[in-house]
Amino acid sequence: MVQRVAVVTGGNRGLGFEIGRQLAAKGIGVVLTARDSARGEKAAKLLQGQGLNVLFHPLDVTDPAAISKLTDYMARVHGRCDILVNNAGILLGGRRTSVMTESLESVRKTVETNVYGPFQLMQALVPIMRKNRYGRVVNLSSGLGQLDEMGDGTPAYRLSKTALNALTRMFAAAAEGAGVLVNSMCPGWVRTDMGGPHAMRSVEKGAETAVWLATLPDDGPTGGFFRDRKRIAW
Ligand code: NAP
Repeated sequence: MVQRVAVVTGGNRGLGFEIGRQLAAKGIGVVLTARDSARGEKAAKLLQGQGLNVLFHPLDVTDPAAISKLTDYMARVHGRCDILVNNAGILLGGRRTSVMTESLESVRKTVETNVYGPFQLMQALVPIMRKNRYGRVVNLSSGLGQLDEMGDGTPAYRLSKTALNALTRMFAAAAEGAGVLVNSMCPGWVRTDMGGPHAMRSVEKGAETAVWLATLPDDGPTGGFFRDRKRIAW
């Protein structure tokens, strides 16, 4: 059987770390990436210590040169990239920010990480998946990006997740018929640094749907938005 290889962004803590752990526990080779090498290496070592097949590679998702280096590494060393989990994300300014007063700087920074990062990573890695006729892309979105439920509060973050959902649809359409399934998911409100200590869910639970989407069978869905393995409105 083929040894599948996954790239997880923002893997040093929170949901990214847990998604990496759960994928590796399924026997998938995980390239855990992080923008801070010391923190990323520490996280990878922790998982290696549990007997898991996890390697570290540096990646700041806002750095096109770093994305190129990772792409080269995946092609040269692994000859494949079966799974991409676009997990790295930021939420600036707290939950009280209003669209009436949000700074353009905050919107720019947020979109840089939450949208342009995944955009460039999909442009770089989906071609490798298409060539191998196998790929699973999971975009960590949020209910806050749903147009259906759109309201005020965290406008930069909301805008970025709505845009990420649009990218999911575009890349799913572009990759159709090539064995590459591209989906968005909302993990729910999860106890991480971003979600805070009062969030309803554990990281284990929050990671579940991402891992399910990362390991879909060939006839699985593409171009969808999921929470708890069920479709939700855009
Ligand atoms: P978190 O605890 O704040 O962790 C965010 C991760 O993203 C960290 O590893 C961070 O690295 C990394 N990151 C940020 N900017 C980066 C960049 N430029 N390049 C590479 N990595 C970068 O957040 P989380 O709760 O685990 O969230 C993970 C994803 O789930 C995010 O996309 C978030 O929007 C989404 N989500 C979370 C919740 C929730 O309740 N927690 C709900 C809905 C959606 P550093 O350690 O270097 O900062």
